[in-house]
Amino acid sequence: MPRFYVVCPRCQYGMDFAQTKIKVGDRIQCLKCKLNIKVTHIYIPEKYDAEFDEEIGVEPLITNGVEIESFLIKRDEILKRSFIQPLEDVVEPGETFTDDMTIGNEYISPIFDDINEGLFLLKNGLRKYNVFADERVAYQIGLFGTWFKDPAGVHIHIGLGEEGIGKEHAAALMIYIHDYLPFIMALCANSPIFPGRNNQPKLTSNASNRLLIYGNQQCKSITKEQIRLMKDDHWTEINYNAVRKDKPPTVEIRVLDSNIPEYIIAAVEILRVLTIAYLKGKPSPNVLSFSNYQKSRQSAARYGVRGSLYWNGKNLKMDKYIDKFFDEFHEEFEEEDLTAEILDIFKLAKLGWNNATIIKESIEAIKAIYSSKKFSWRKQFIARYNDAIASLLDGNNLIDYARLMYVELPDLKNIQLGKKHPF
Ligand SMILES: [Zn+2]
Repeated sequence: MPRFYVVCPRCQYGMDFAQTKIKVGDRIQCLKCKLNIKVTHIYIPEKYDAEFDEEIGVEPLITNGVEIESFLIKRDEILKRSFIQPLEDVVEPGETFTDDMTIGNEYISPIFDDINEGLFLLKNGLRKYNVFADERVAYQIGLFGTWFKDPAGVHIHIGLGEEGIGKEHAAALMIYIHDYLPFIMALCANSPIFPGRNNQPKLTSNASNRLLIYGNQQCKSITKEQIRLMKDDHWTEINYNAVRKDKPPTVEIRVLDSNIPEYIIAAVEILRVLTIAYLKGKPSPNVLSFSNYQKSRQSAARYGVRGSLYWNGKNLKMDKYIDKFFDEFHEEFEEEDLTAEILDIFKLAKLGWNNATIIKESIEAIKAIYSSKKFSWRKQFIARYNDAIASLLDGNNLIDYARLMYVELPDLKNIQLGKKHPF
């Protein structure tokens, strides 16, 4: 009878199991270092060969949860500080719809440990604002980092299974992740609208007004030295949430603008890949000085994926940066079961497209179609965004989403992610 060997991805401790005692999807704990491990695949050769052990693919169990602050859309209007809640019977265990003090709505996702499950949960959860609202009026969730004045963000939590993440790992993981935060900011920038003349909403050239205007209050930049000291400050861009009565301790990342699920999940994916690499003990391939970090952060807020980011001492355009990221972490990406829906977000970014770009292009198209004397571009745009989000949450893809806003996304057929081992 062959034995099945599991090697802990962190401490390399080997454990053997009888064939009948292990299957794909099982969760086990390393007997030596206590890391939670997930079985991802089992490879059985066609013929039994006493020379070889059966191979088991494993990865660390990484759990994520997402909080999404958001405005509400009612037909062609953005409502602020108004809160709705779906009917109680459609709320799933672990899912919460709360009243956020500044914006109105905050959605808290159930915890997930699989990226595709995460995308499904977010779409399904946010859809409830529209489909199961306990009101006669049709509402839609208004996913913007800012619309006009108030900032709405997305917070992503990282844990290592049900017990969350211990303080001994948190600081080192946060330092590992910190150098890549500008990448997440650029990818998820989604706040081109801000007050203009006569205090009216205006399309600005900035990708994230939320970061530029409020970045120093609600998502404060910190140095790796400050992270190492683990001072508790809730308003920093990355922080440690110590254990609470109802929640395990987690690392929290607060840099994303409020955004559509595909973008949030792409950010979760970046964080998962970095967490896998950190747990394996892989040295970070990109280490930034604080001044280069600040320059990257500023470029991400100002230009989104049309800007450039530092990789070590080198300033790279987004397409080069993304290739580098996929090449350096290709093994970790391979452990994740990525679908085109998620990979396309990175391919679009290589061509300069994120949700801030889509919104800008949509408003430009609307201004070109409708006479400004008869129509307000704002009302036209909000009505289009309302329909586009509904279509996306109903399960349609990003191409349809953009088309509903008069935007044609570029063809991704020949776009690859990474040069050495392209996806
Ligand atoms: Zn171990």
